[in-house]
Amino acid sequence: MLPPLSLIDTHLHLDAAEFDTERAALWEAAQQAGVRAAVIPAVEPSQWPSQQKRLAHFPALAHAWGIHPCFVDHAHAWAEQQAGSALDDEAAAAVACAALEAWITEHGAVAIGEIGLDRFVTTPTWSRQVVWFEAQLALAKRLRLPVLCHARRAVEAVRIRVRRANLPGGIIHAFNGSRAQAEDLIAHGFCLGFGGAMTHPRANHLHKLAQTLPLEGIVLETDAPDIPPAWANSRPTRRTEPADLVRYAAFLAEQRGMDFDAIVSATTANALRVIPQLQRLFATNPLPCTLERAK
Ligand SMILES: [Zn+2]
Repeated sequence: MLPPLSLIDTHLHLDAAEFDTERAALWEAAQQAGVRAAVIPAVEPSQWPSQQKRLAHFPALAHAWGIHPCFVDHAHAWAEQQAGSALDDEAAAAVACAALEAWITEHGAVAIGEIGLDRFVTTPTWSRQVVWFEAQLALAKRLRLPVLCHARRAVEAVRIRVRRANLPGGIIHAFNGSRAQAEDLIAHGFCLGFGGAMTHPRANHLHKLAQTLPLEGIVLETDAPDIPPAWANSRPTRRTEPADLVRYAAFLAEQRGMDFDAIVSATTANALRVIPQLQRLFATNPLPCTLERAK
């Protein structure tokens, strides 16, 4: 049985430099509020060691490793430095994917991420993003790991590629596609990440999705410190904090006219299903003492 509050943040950049001075306090506050575990997606090879180091002593965090679409130019330069020569896109992605596989072998991973496509940015170029995304999808398939996908203004391009890659599943983070795309992804083992964006009063499309999509396809995420909720405007930092996840669960419950507890257990069960390796972490991580008392 799950304890009364056992949320999983499926997308949290707790290693971000913005959190340097209060990382421990923010995570403690999130745990006290009912966040039981979180998945930390990586950004690029030169950042993997700092993610590992900054979060080494935090309980209940699970790492995903990968190369974010907005950082594939950095990663390309990193790969050329490793190789000691200029490389085309395919060769650079191959160097980085070999490094990614070695890193995962050494450190473990619950998923490959954050990977994907971003049509909002003009650099890195679209064609380069596609090469890196497809190379990482192939690695995920070979290692039988789920993927955490970024799909900004690119849901269809991401959907086509994850479907073609025939993966065990994953999460489309910060989902903002159509209902038909959502249903297709859910039918093929994916969950869709909902967070701060849905809390804005004018986010009508996201409200409709949050209200009506099959509940088994929804997971919660903060993407902290990014994608601030409506209420972050009143904060001096204006950023998202890990404890915001609890309010996202309450928001989703209100949208669907459901009990808060039912949303907590359903979204947590979804996260554990789509990222199966979280089950081990979830089972062994002790609860913060105040939650133990509340049981
Ligand atoms: Zn992210």
